[in-house]
Amino acid sequence: MNIILLGPPGAGKGTQASRLEQERGMVQLSTGDMLRAAVAARSPVGMQAKAVMDAGDLVSDEIVTGILSDRLDGEDVKRGFILDGYPRTTAQAQSLESLLALKGTSLDHVIELSVDEDALVERIIGRFSCASCGEGYHDIYKQPAVPNVCDVCQSENFRRRPDDNEETVRNRLSEYRAKTEPILPFYEAKGLVSRVDGMAPIVEVNAAIERILDGG
Ligand code: ADP
Ligand code: AMP
Repeated sequence: MNIILLGPPGAGKGTQASRLEQERGMVQLSTGDMLRAAVAARSPVGMQAKAVMDAGDLVSDEIVTGILSDRLDGEDVKRGFILDGYPRTTAQAQSLESLLALKGTSLDHVIELSVDEDALVERIIGRFSCASCGEGYHDIYKQPAVPNVCDVCQSENFRRRPDDNEETVRNRLSEYRAKTEPILPFYEAKGLVSRVDGMAPIVEVNAAIERILDGG
């Protein structure tokens, strides 16, 4: 099963993708994570992408599609993948069609997570993650069970993304409305889109996604 989780920044795509990885053995493909790894490695792609990401603008279709295409060649992707943060433009949606056709696979579902704009800003400003294993947390909605200790790997080191500040968030949201939302009709025409209320608690959003994947 191959799916896209679509929704604005902070909608809960990464949170839900990581639950699906644990529950179903699917592979999360986050282009944001891939780009952050490139920035951390100071690779040529990372050097080009950093300022764009810090401003909350979109990295070029060529760069992002290039890194995704390489990742889709991974053997693990055959277990089924969850695209998180890709495609973000009509051009990317079209490139994805060609890439999947070339690799002899296709999409089963596009799941749209909808969340109010004010809640998105609150979610992003409160977001942090474990610096060792990447587990995601939130100041209010998902704190570690033991304060300052990661639930998954017991690390005591946490980090916040440089682009998770109010000014950048507003730009990221407007980029989503202007460039990403318009790709929905493309998938609607293929009958692939299901909508989930992303305002519900994390476990309820997860249950709604599971029902869609189970065909119910
Ligand atoms: P995205 O990957 O779509 O940008 P995340 O999964 O990183 O979003 O979620 C953004 C923040 O909101 C995180 O701190 C996460 O813990 C929190 N969060 C995710 N889903 C929910 C939810 N249903 N209710 C409340 N907080 C949530
Ligand atoms: P995310 O982790 O999905 O919130 O993405 C963080 C940032 O990475 C975005 O604000 C963009 O600058 C960049 N990015 C991630 N995925 C894409 C994509 N598919 N197309 C263009 N830019 C992207």
